[in-house]
Amino acid sequence: MPTKKTISILGSTGSIGTQSLAVCRNLGIRVHGLSAHKNCRLIEEQAREFLPRYVVITDLSAYREVKTALADTPCQVVYGMEALCALAADPQNDLVLNSVMGMVGLRPTLAALEAGNQVALANKETLVAGGRLVTGLAQRKGLPILPVDSEHSAIFQCLQGSAGNPIQSILLTASGGPFFGKTRAELEQVGIGDALNHPNWSMGAKITVDSATLMNKGLEFIEAIRLFDVPPEAIQVVIHRESVLHSAVEFADGSVIAQLGVPDMRIPIQYALTYPQRVGSGVRRLSLADWGKLTFFEPDCETFSCLPAAIEAVKRDGLAPAILNGANEEAVALFLAGEIPFLQIGELVREALERVPSQDDFTLEDVLEADRAAKDCVKTLAACYRR
Ligand code: NDP
Ligand code: MG
Repeated sequence: MPTKKTISILGSTGSIGTQSLAVCRNLGIRVHGLSAHKNCRLIEEQAREFLPRYVVITDLSAYREVKTALADTPCQVVYGMEALCALAADPQNDLVLNSVMGMVGLRPTLAALEAGNQVALANKETLVAGGRLVTGLAQRKGLPILPVDSEHSAIFQCLQGSAGNPIQSILLTASGGPFFGKTRAELEQVGIGDALNHPNWSMGAKITVDSATLMNKGLEFIEAIRLFDVPPEAIQVVIHRESVLHSAVEFADGSVIAQLGVPDMRIPIQYALTYPQRVGSGVRRLSLADWGKLTFFEPDCETFSCLPAAIEAVKRDGLAPAILNGANEEAVALFLAGEIPFLQIGELVREALERVPSQDDFTLEDVLEADRAAKDCVKTLAACYRR
């Protein structure tokens, strides 16, 4: 039964992390470990409520603060990336939910799989940058990767009961973000507040900006290829403003199976935690008559250049997706720091993709190096643009 499960949540103070804890609270799932980077106040609160055996903090000064704050509890507070990997690999876990933000999630995912722990994955950057290092390891260990991303959870759900019939194509839906319908000239004027104002979802800052540039859909395009082993030609991106139809799978006979629900991340999170069972979630029910109509559009790949850049990267394969992801992480960080304008994110990513060398076969070290090189390239280019 799902309530007997013991899980660890990496990145428990984030948007996905807090919603995952809400699911655990609701279902009585036991929490073995939690992690945060800097949010001392929230991780202390979470630790006091869930009393995990381990609390991992990856920022040194935050670690010192949290260790002191939790001294009167049975929680063991530990520091750093090695500790995060050790928590991911701990055999006490039935499942490790990785919801940290960005490339830092790659090593903990590999550590969990290497140890034979099942992984529920929100951290899409892990699959984009690590690619076959991750899926190959999961296959060798005979472990399914349980998707938390709503589109990939939808596809995964559509495939339940498909009796092994192959996927003809995937319809990957995208909300279109806050800048749907805008021209490049209009996007020259947008600021950080505009990009963070997502119409349907409340999420962490990085993924919210990725939704505004459509890079989020680009990363998800690559994530879908890795998870479901389909070629790029088999994925169609479709803008769906209401975020009610979370994605769909087409089969050989032309039948399309879709998963629908109100836009609430607790549904895909819970499905990953209780899979293959379904239990009550307390989430608002979908009333199609209340929605009235659902709308669909082609994506504007001219204006939103990050989406075609991601498709190009996955077609090149090798280290290109890791370079794309690293360049994007750095460009988004610069945008959020107020150092570059919105449209420069896509330009810097495209430049880095051309400049940073790729190779077909790679190790984890090569991926980490490609990530570093892409980030350095974006920093250097952005500094040149500013001059
Ligand atoms: P948030 O920014 O809200 O949370 C990120 C989490 O990662 C926090 O717990 C944060 O700790 C931790 N973290 C940040 N930097 C580091 C670091 N350097 N080392 C270790 N931990 C770190 O992000 P979201 O929850 O929005 O997203 C998390 C992941 O899930 C991303 O990969 C995103 O793409 C994916 N995702 C998110 C969705 C959503 O609805 N939010 C939907 C689908 C996928 P602290 O709080 O202490 O800084
Ligand atoms: Mg998504």
